[in-house]
Amino acid sequence: MTVRIGVVGTGAIGKEHMNRVQQRLAGAEIVAVTDVNQASAEQALQELGIQAVIYPDDQTLIDAQDVDAIFVTSWGPAHEATVLKAIAAGKYVFCEKPLAVTAKGCMDIVKAEMEHGKRLVQVGFMRQYDSGYMQLKSALDANLVGEPLFLKCAHRNPEVNAAYTTDMAISDTLIHEIHVLHWLLDDEYVSAQVLYPRKTKNALPHLQDPQIVMLETASGVLIQVEVSVNCKYGYDIQCEIVGEDGIVSLPEVESITVRKEGKLSTNILTDWKLRFTDAYDKELQDFIHSITRLGVPAGPSAWDGYVAAVTSDACLKAQESGLKEPIALESTPDFYQMNIKAQV
Ligand code: NAP
Repeated sequence: MTVRIGVVGTGAIGKEHMNRVQQRLAGAEIVAVTDVNQASAEQALQELGIQAVIYPDDQTLIDAQDVDAIFVTSWGPAHEATVLKAIAAGKYVFCEKPLAVTAKGCMDIVKAEMEHGKRLVQVGFMRQYDSGYMQLKSALDANLVGEPLFLKCAHRNPEVNAAYTTDMAISDTLIHEIHVLHWLLDDEYVSAQVLYPRKTKNALPHLQDPQIVMLETASGVLIQVEVSVNCKYGYDIQCEIVGEDGIVSLPEVESITVRKEGKLSTNILTDWKLRFTDAYDKELQDFIHSITRLGVPAGPSAWDGYVAAVTSDACLKAQESGLKEPIALESTPDFYQMNIKAQV
């Protein structure tokens, strides 16, 4: 079976996902698109050489008989409404992060999906498909370094544009760590605190950068994430897990080493898109294969989207208060407890 996909939002990531479906992935094709800006949808199809129907809005695209699954790649605040419409129509939906911009919005999606009675939603937290993080997960599951005690992580971008604000360090940037570390440790977050070191000269006046986020889990693991979005030197993702019997770290991105003119050097990526290309391919391939083979998406669920939103809200509160803020999550419903085996 070929999954016929309709795309809502033909901006940067929408086009990338359309291109990977058409060029690299198996079992799916793009048959429909829509965007608030119709010209953008037309241009995207032309640029990518894809023939698909352009619909005036998300509802008409979702209602189309020949659309089996929806990609939601529009602006974050528009995600919730489109996902709810897709669930109401009983269609599978892959939604880029954030699932919704509020925890209540995520919970409304969770409730709608549970009422529907079958999992339909996968959220675009691609890092759990990255081979480095998968190796870390296997190491933890095999108890390679004993119980984890402390994590030291960093999310560094070379620079951001003037539209990037202090809160986006949490809602746009840290959100990936929030999801992937929860998945790695399989442990609930219980508190968050945000500390501001001396501000870098490279940040615009309105932006607090860098930021140090401290998360604590139910079993007592402490997590420190440095978010630096004007580090200049590259796009650099670090994760070191200090365990009882040793330390395990995320591998560096593979790159040749050069010995020349008295120096031993290796490249650091500067473009975030290149860091997780394989992971983006795998998350979408898993979505396509799992809905075809298992009838449910195997990747990050609407519940994961809710956990990320609640944690993100606590971090945002901590940014304002300077205090350690509690993270109060409802217990995971049985509906989301099932472990669905990835199909990639
Ligand atoms: P973008 O380039 O601004 O694209 C968003 C597109 O959606 C634009 O074409 C926008 O039109 C359109 N749009 C806005 N509201 C809409 C609506 N109500 N219905 C249909 N289309 C609508 O942004 P992007 O970088 O692609 O990001 C899109 C989403 O993906 C964001 O939520 C972002 O957080 C997420 N994302 C995730 C990752 C990841 O690593 N997983 C990476 C990048 C982005 P206008 O331009 O006319 O407003």
